[in-house]
Amino acid sequence: MRLRHKPWADDYMKENDHVVVQKPFDFKGNWQANFKKEQPLHLEIGSGKGQFIAGMGKQHPEYNFIGLERVKSVIVGALKKVLDAETDNVRLINEDAADLRDLFGTSEIDHIYLNFSDPWPKTRHEKRRLTFSAFLEQYEDVLKDDGKLTLKTDNRGLFEYSLASFSQYGMIIEEVNLDLHAVEDPLNVPTEYEEKFAAKGQPIYRCKARFKS
Ligand code: SAH
Repeated sequence: MRLRHKPWADDYMKENDHVVVQKPFDFKGNWQANFKKEQPLHLEIGSGKGQFIAGMGKQHPEYNFIGLERVKSVIVGALKKVLDAETDNVRLINEDAADLRDLFGTSEIDHIYLNFSDPWPKTRHEKRRLTFSAFLEQYEDVLKDDGKLTLKTDNRGLFEYSLASFSQYGMIIEEVNLDLHAVEDPLNVPTEYEEKFAAKGQPIYRCKARFKS
C-alpha cells in the first residue's frame, strides 16, 4: 500500500504521540523516561503491522517494548494494534535501523528481535540484511552485556546467512530451532508473516544469540 493513499497517517501518528514517539532521537540514552515503569527494554526491528510488539506488550507487562519500523504506511497498522491492545508499555518509532546508535545509548537495550526481516537474497545486497556485520556492531553497542538477539524467519537463506554471520562475529548461539511450530509453545507470540507462512506449511526458523561480554 502506498503512502499517498494514507494521507491521514501523519495526523493519526501525531494524535497518538504517546505511542508513536515524535522526536525519538531526543530519548537516546533516556528511554526509560518515556515509560510508566523502569523495567527491561525490548526492541523489535522491522515491526511491520505490529502483531508481535502489541502481543508481547500484553503478554509481558514486566518489560517495556519499542517497535522500530521505517515504513509509515505500515507502522500505522502497528499503532492501531497497540491502541487496541490497551497496553501502556509499548512505543513505536518511525525510523530506519541504520540510525540505531543515534536512537539508543550504549547498553540501553536488553533484547532485540528480528522477525521475518527482508532477506535481500542477492549477494550485492548483503549489507542491507539486518544480520550483516555492520548491523551486529550496532546491536552490540546498544545491547547490555548479557543482552539477547532473537531472530525468527521462514527464509532458509537468510537463516543460514545469519547463523554464519553471528558465528563469524564471535557471538554465542544459544538456540537453533529449525521448526518452531513443530511443538506448541504458548509463550511464542506469532507475527503476521509467521502466521501466513506457517499456514502454508513452511517451517519457521528461530535462533537466539548473544554477544560475548
Ligand atoms: N516483523 C513483521 C514484518 C516483517 S516484514 C512480521 O514478522 O510480520 C519486514 C519489515 O521490516 C518491513 O515492514 C520493513 O519495512 C521493515 N524494515 C526492513 N528494514 C528496516 C530497517 N532498516 N529499519 C526499519 N525497518 C525495516
